Amino acid sequence: MKYIDEFRDGDLARNIARSIAAEADPAREYRFMEFCGGHTHAISRYGLSDLLPPNVRMIHGPGCPVCVLPIGRVDQAIRMALEHEVILCTYGDCLRVPASDGLSLLKAKARGADVRMVYSTQDALALAQKHPERQVVFFAIGFETTTPPTAVAIDQAAALGLGNFSVLCCHVLTPAAIVGILESPEAKAGGVALDGMVGPAHVSTVIGSAPYEFVPERYGKPVVIAGFEPLDMMQAILMLVRQVNQGRAKVENEFTRAVTPEGNRKAQALVAKIFELRPEFEWRGLGTVPDSALKLRPEYAAFDAELRFPLPYTPVPDHKACECGAILRGVKEPRDCKVFGTVCTPENPLGSCMVSSEGACAAHYTYGRYKDAVSS
Ligand code: SF4
Repeated sequence: MKYIDEFRDGDLARNIARSIAAEADPAREYRFMEFCGGHTHAISRYGLSDLLPPNVRMIHGPGCPVCVLPIGRVDQAIRMALEHEVILCTYGDCLRVPASDGLSLLKAKARGADVRMVYSTQDALALAQKHPERQVVFFAIGFETTTPPTAVAIDQAAALGLGNFSVLCCHVLTPAAIVGILESPEAKAGGVALDGMVGPAHVSTVIGSAPYEFVPERYGKPVVIAGFEPLDMMQAILMLVRQVNQGRAKVENEFTRAVTPEGNRKAQALVAKIFELRPEFEWRGLGTVPDSALKLRPEYAAFDAELRFPLPYTPVPDHKACECGAILRGVKEPRDCKVFGTVCTPENPLGSCMVSSEGACAAHYTYGRYKDAVSS
């Protein structure tokens, strides 16, 4: 299949692996973070870590949308559904994120809340049109990839004059999260010594490669934007090894078939029309990060669920056994969590990293946990 098979060729992968092994300096360690949950999934699914020499290590980052969603935001959505009796719509993964009081949106549904899974913002808009007597709230989560469809829905709702549609906006921004990682207390103390970063694929199709320039300029670390296929990842790792060996730190783009320096200008313009920066936003694992999320502009306040259904935001700490925060900062790995695979499984997640297939714990549970048994 065009653009699929050619990026999953085993012989080519082994060739690139040989180049990485030949070019990686055995006298040093290379620590690269894959920011994006899609890359975390690809690394686990295709066993890419097994193709790398032991001194080239991949560290999972915070780029999984449901993983970084803090408990307090899920609580807010649940309260809108239970207390204000709205139809609460969101994407499938979001339904199982653990919240306060043993609840999740799915469990709230079992208690009578009208929670519905949608495949797109258009489904939520259609529900609002079908049920003019009900308030419909779309719980909007995700990075720059999922923001444009939310902007389209709000734009359409405004054009249609829909008075029963609103958005609980929890869209977050990738560059701000990278700053959060590189300036985390552990990073400052030398605990997350990254040599470079694999930049996200889908996010970069929207924002382009230019917004990552601050990483080499301010932090002296290379970034290579990569696609989601195994050869994309292997090639990006080779490009990072070469930059490190040559003492260079630049933004390079392996995913040239989809990513340009400027990104999707049309999508960016629509997002800028509907949204503005939140002064601060709480992330799971990163804490409160300034200018790291979006909210609706005052012109679209009528579609802002936080204004329509005032519910004060209350931060809630993670379960004390859960290591999601440290995993999202690249400080720990899933196998470091004492409840991994026992109390916490994809069927019964205790933390958010076990919910989505992009989550580090879910990916390791599905594809890598046999290695823990072999190495223990
Ligand atoms: S295994 Fe579960 S509880 Fe532990 S860090 Fe992962 S998601 Fe959190």
